[in-house]
Amino acid sequence: MMLLLNAAVSTFINSIKELGSDMLFVNNPVCPVCKRVMFFDENILCKSCVDKLNYINDNECHVCGSKINSENILCDHCMSIYSMDAGKSVFTYDNISSCVIHDFKYNRNRYAAKECGKRLAERLADVSWIKDIDIITCVPCTAEKLNQRGYNQAALIALALSDALNIEVNNEILLKCRETKDQIGLSYEQRFENVKNAFEVINYKIIENKTVLIADDVFTSGATINECTNMLKKSGARTVYFATVALARE
Ligand SMILES: [Zn+2]
Ligand SMILES: [Zn+2]
Repeated sequence: MMLLLNAAVSTFINSIKELGSDMLFVNNPVCPVCKRVMFFDENILCKSCVDKLNYINDNECHVCGSKINSENILCDHCMSIYSMDAGKSVFTYDNISSCVIHDFKYNRNRYAAKECGKRLAERLADVSWIKDIDIITCVPCTAEKLNQRGYNQAALIALALSDALNIEVNNEILLKCRETKDQIGLSYEQRFENVKNAFEVINYKIIENKTVLIADDVFTSGATINECTNMLKKSGARTVYFATVALARE
């Protein structure tokens, strides 16, 4: 009885904390770049920092620079190494966008994640394949990471995309079954090796014959999204697209 009561009290306290942190970020946001307190009409960054965000050039492949149409961030040649069918991103990963991403990844700034998801949705609204998407999901993290951090930042992006695009979301399709080494410092090949068999599909019925959009914060080598795509396709997904807030050049 006492145990049950303790569990109930701890759940209650956690939900108050959650509510408190959400309210804090909406009512008293601090610019992730310059740390100045922002006003209500400002969103991801304060007025003086927001213009410094670099949007990805839609007309050239982000890897090789060749001319492309605006349906994808990579040219057909660069895309051919991946299992995904196409994908979009909003910002170039640099010293400005990395502050925003860091803020929603480590500082519980859910508000920034939501705003980034909105920007991403605006970008996706123009591509022809957006109308084919049946379900949105996210790159998962391990249960241990989820416990430590309290949330998965990629899931927040997926939720914001779902809200803005009015497409169903389910963040319990993929499971990360083991912790992987930090990709930083690994070669391109090692990154693909590092994430191999780290993911499982736990809800394959939902994706059978479906077109899935997978959301994440940053696309660097693309190894993680590629591995998730492999698993989704092995489990019956027909087409897999990806959407990330930022794109980092190797
Ligand atoms: Zn600022
Ligand atoms: Zn290319």
